[in-house]
Amino acid sequence: MNGERAQSMFIDGRWLPAELSQESFTVVNPATERPLARVAAADAAVVDQAVSAARRAFPAWRDLGPHKRAALLVALARQVDERRDAIARVLTAEQGKPLDEARGEVAKVARTFEYYAGEAVRVLGQTIPNEDKGFLSLVEKEPIGVAAAIAPWNYPVELIGWKLGGALAAGCTIVVKPSEYTPLSAIALIGCVEAAGFPPGVVNLIQGAGAVGAALVSHPGIDKIAFTGSAKVGARIFQTMGGIKSVSLELGGNCPLIVAPSADLNAAVTGALRRGFRNMGQICIAVNRVYVHASLYEAFTQRLAEGAARLVQADGLQHPSADIGPMTNADGVAKVERHVADARAKGARVLCGGGRPQGFDAGHFYAPTILADCTPETLVMSEETFGPVIGIAPYETLGEAITLANAGPYGLAAYVYARDVSEIFALTKALCFGSVAVNNVDAGIMNAPYGGRKNSGIGYEHGREGMEGYFALKHIRLRHGA
Ligand code: NAD
Repeated sequence: MNGERAQSMFIDGRWLPAELSQESFTVVNPATERPLARVAAADAAVVDQAVSAARRAFPAWRDLGPHKRAALLVALARQVDERRDAIARVLTAEQGKPLDEARGEVAKVARTFEYYAGEAVRVLGQTIPNEDKGFLSLVEKEPIGVAAAIAPWNYPVELIGWKLGGALAAGCTIVVKPSEYTPLSAIALIGCVEAAGFPPGVVNLIQGAGAVGAALVSHPGIDKIAFTGSAKVGARIFQTMGGIKSVSLELGGNCPLIVAPSADLNAAVTGALRRGFRNMGQICIAVNRVYVHASLYEAFTQRLAEGAARLVQADGLQHPSADIGPMTNADGVAKVERHVADARAKGARVLCGGGRPQGFDAGHFYAPTILADCTPETLVMSEETFGPVIGIAPYETLGEAITLANAGPYGLAAYVYARDVSEIFALTKALCFGSVAVNNVDAGIMNAPYGGRKNSGIGYEHGREGMEGYFALKHIRLRHGA
């Protein structure tokens, strides 16, 4: 991180000399707005080189067998654990989350690799009885081929890790393209791949912005696209991929939290604070909008505003245990400003925040913001804010809360606080979301499927289901008797 051009792309087991690349871009620390490094980016020839390396490596990796692949994933987990602090520092410097949180993200990715090492050796096919005597059907799962992994900047290590874990365990080779905002943590992660001793070409890393991502997904050598990012780019991928490819899309959300009449109010406030503001609300499953039963509305909004005002905001390298840092980029701040101005104009009350905080000379800082009395028409209640803002509205009946929560184009995650069993089941059944967390706000665990409905995506990560997208099924119909 010295402002010089970093060796940024790893292809066929070697780092590409930075000076060979014509293209480059600057990475900036969001807490200081100072440059961290210049990073060499791919052109069409480099994209082709990476995909070709992955294609050449695929047959041997597929045939290596699950046990050896699992051993390499365990070695990768060890490398990540050993380098945790160094990777976390890079992550905080380019993304902005406090250092302790970055350490947690890196440690979780090591656990992801261990989890998929375990799954690699438990890939089971099927035998299917046939109507005709003397026939047997076998269904085998085969790795689909070369995967393109495209990641955003909010959890840049974890979101690459999920794709690496599933793809490598399944026997696919992979080309990774991180976000242009967070290339350095990806370089550090792929350094672990190199040190773990994966065969050349099995994992490749290229860099660049959207045009490089578009060139990668449209390359004819790609069999599977694993994309995490915005719904807008996700939809574009279908137009640009240029052929029939397997696709999984983990996209945006505008996630609701419902506080039911029987809720534990303090627990609901704690949950909303954690999932609304962690990582500055830059989480696809962030609590963006809260619907509170009228009987609890004033108490909830007041306690939430008090809690938000107490959050410690700082440069996460200087204050590792701060609650929140800056946002990652200026576009994110601009979107937050738009959502807050819109809510104000439509009559919402700003209970805390609502602008840039005092005490920062530079950096993409924005104060945690609570907006009460938001109507369904406000942007915060209908579009992904992806920033430190929570909109709140009261409701009278559970049916009304369900209608409000299910409105809109997203279906990633929803949250419920309730103690009454009938309220819990009424809500969990009716909410149209890929994950519903009740009395907690940690919807994603490694061994359960995680994915969105509607415009929030298709396909799953985490769990066995996170590997399924890297397989193609083969039906073998065997005649073994007369
Ligand atoms: P983005 O869609 O702008 O970019 C994501 C990635 O796609 C980046 O690497 C970018 O360079 C690349 N890209 C851009 N244009 C492309 C194109 N035409 N073809 C191929 N690749 C292209 O998203 P972002 O701003 O980096 O991330 C924020 C978004 O990600 C939010 O909407 C958030 O909800 C979503 N997200 C979803 C999940 C999930 O699991 N559902 C997790 C994290 C983030």
